[in-house]
Amino acid sequence: ETLGHTKTNPFADPANLTRVYAIASGKGGVGKSTVTVNLAASLAASGLSVGIVDADVHGFSVPALLGITQAPTKVEDMILPPVVEVPPERRRPRAEAAGSEPDAGSIRVISIGMFVPDNRPVAWRGPMLHRALEQFLTDVHFGDLDVLLLDLPPGTGDIAISMSQLVPHAGLVVVSTPQHAAVDVAERAGTMSLQTGQEVVGVVENMAAMTMPDGSVLEMFGSGGGQLLAERLSRSIEKDVPLLGSVPLDPALREGGDAGVPVVWSAPGSPSAVALEEIADGL
Ligand code: ADP
Repeated sequence: ETLGHTKTNPFADPANLTRVYAIASGKGGVGKSTVTVNLAASLAASGLSVGIVDADVHGFSVPALLGITQAPTKVEDMILPPVVEVPPERRRPRAEAAGSEPDAGSIRVISIGMFVPDNRPVAWRGPMLHRALEQFLTDVHFGDLDVLLLDLPPGTGDIAISMSQLVPHAGLVVVSTPQHAAVDVAERAGTMSLQTGQEVVGVVENMAAMTMPDGSVLEMFGSGGGQLLAERLSRSIEKDVPLLGSVPLDPALREGGDAGVPVVWSAPGSPSAVALEEIADGL
């Protein structure tokens, strides 16, 4: 049996109906991958078919964040990606389908990490990585996706440029902490869109102020950076860039990541889960 594959990159076709978002950051450790998997988990919970291409080739973490241990399988000349199903108790009907049985959404994931044995570092050069990412888009059988998320590597290097060429209509979502020094770096990742021609969908502020058990508020990384970044990007690309939301520092989010279950599934009422769900609903 054939899967009817034609060996073209369906996501380069302007007529393709899949919504594509590239999740970018200026530097590592700001929660880009955590945001990516939680947006995917939230969208899938509302019944959507979601794909993730983990393009953070040197810092891949998406498989671990989703608890994926299976490898992709090969069928003829196609790669079947591992599928993460939404836990039945986490399915929620979309607003327009209120009252009906929620659809079973899922997440299909492909990552370089699935092709590197024993957690060894990826020491490939640019052209080889470009070819691998291209193969992810042409040879991986994602099926009909509602949404595809690309977890970009931090910064504005080769891979981010490659991805923008492979998926030109991807909207850029820029993740930053509220720290003003982080905002400077994140602004560069956002202004990359001037060269690539991609649309900037908005800014996600992560690791924002956390309310402590005694009611006091801890601003570990300061405050206001997300709004500042949105304003600065709006000015530098001369288009209105919104702040999509602000995700607080939250131990539940870190615990969910460590356990391989996104916080929107593991602790749905937690402050970070509520914020992430709202951002996903606004996409
Ligand atoms: P990046 O993809 O930007 O390198 P990660 O998503 O890997 O960053 O996140 C870095 C670390 O910070 C992870 O250990 C993650 O669990 C933790 N983390 C991310 N966002 C938060 C948050 N809002 N609250 C608590 N921990 C977080």
